[in-house]
Amino acid sequence: MLNQITDTPTFVTHLECSQTGKIYAADQLHGLSETGKPLLVRYDLDALGKAVTKKAIAARVPEFWRYREFLPVRKTANIVRLGEVMTPIIPLPAIAKKLGAGEILVKDEGRLPTGSFKARGLALAVSMAKELGVKRMAMPTNGNAGAALAAYCSRAGIETYVFCPDDTPEINVREIALQGAKTYLVNGLIDQCGRIVGEGKDAMEWFDTSTLKEPYRIEGKKTMGLELAEQLGWEVPDIIFYPTGGGTGLIGMWKAFEELEAIGWIGAKRPRMVAVQAAGCAPIVRAFEAGADHAERWEDAQTVAAGIRVPAAVGDFLILDAVRKSGGFACAVADDAIIAAGEEVAKTEGLMLCPEGAATFAAYKQELSSGRVEANERALLFNCATGLKYPMPEAGIRLDITKEVDYDLL
Ligand SMILES: *Cc1c(COP(=O)(O)O)cnc(C)c1O
Repeated sequence: MLNQITDTPTFVTHLECSQTGKIYAADQLHGLSETGKPLLVRYDLDALGKAVTKKAIAARVPEFWRYREFLPVRKTANIVRLGEVMTPIIPLPAIAKKLGAGEILVKDEGRLPTGSFKARGLALAVSMAKELGVKRMAMPTNGNAGAALAAYCSRAGIETYVFCPDDTPEINVREIALQGAKTYLVNGLIDQCGRIVGEGKDAMEWFDTSTLKEPYRIEGKKTMGLELAEQLGWEVPDIIFYPTGGGTGLIGMWKAFEELEAIGWIGAKRPRMVAVQAAGCAPIVRAFEAGADHAERWEDAQTVAAGIRVPAAVGDFLILDAVRKSGGFACAVADDAIIAAGEEVAKTEGLMLCPEGAATFAAYKQELSSGRVEANERALLFNCATGLKYPMPEAGIRLDITKEVDYDLL
């Protein structure tokens, strides 16, 4: 059974434009700021730090709602839940040994509801939408975000419209529809699906839930940073590899570390943040290498890792800023390296990664050889979805029971 979440005080003071710092009122429905940039939720961190202790959190149920005081939902009754478990951190000891590396850890987000870490962001976005009286939500998606939106909205009694590029993995399209969303296939990429939502939202009375176009998905993804710090004994790893599409998770974790330092739960050390992209869609890598603050749209984006096939990200400047401030970098990996990396981890360690998760391991290996990663760095990779949602190579040799089995041939 889902446990009862006890009512605790909340600490949101206001929202703030991530570009200009302009203040927006809490407890009202907001999209982007006036300048078209993401809004960040701000808390009374002094009061928060006094209201809760590491020990109190450790005693709570192992789900991300244990970080309740760091989250924006005011009324516990508005929290929409499907069992948001804390995800395990799984070491890859055999691979580390083979590579002559130190610790390689995988945070396996595939255990969350709807099989991906999109559940973190959407649980928060939908809970806040419920709190603020939203009746209809719409979103462009490469798959997992739409599935999480559909699931949480159906549970909350909110109507959902989801737009996918027409080559989105079929299982994603079907799970979105099965979980109750009106589901459309669009002959374009995710930003073009986003345009349909943006242009139709007034007439259709949609609340636009596109990546970073509402303030609360970041707060949900922030729980990855809180959770991994707690799991590592309130320490951060030396380096984090994050498969970067819209970058919500990277931005969210960076915010988590800032808030944890502000209340004195971690020190000034930050992990080096590595934004991993696919060679066929690497706008953040190109901007990072050019020393630019913003990323140009990537034309003809193509990769097997659909979750990171995002040609243009609204939060590009926030991703680049976090990566640079952390002393990290952005890097791209080829599709064949992604596929090989996924097979290696599955066959050696028994852990099946999604293609985006496999991209982080491919990037780790690539950068260990290039020297940008040191063997003694404690590395944390993100596997963002269950590998079970993705196409797998054909397998299985047929045996005929009407004939004798020739065991020598097995
Ligand atoms: C959405 C998604 C990503 C990218 O996450 P962002 O935080 O939006 O950059 C990576 N992998 C998978 C499987 C996803 O669904």
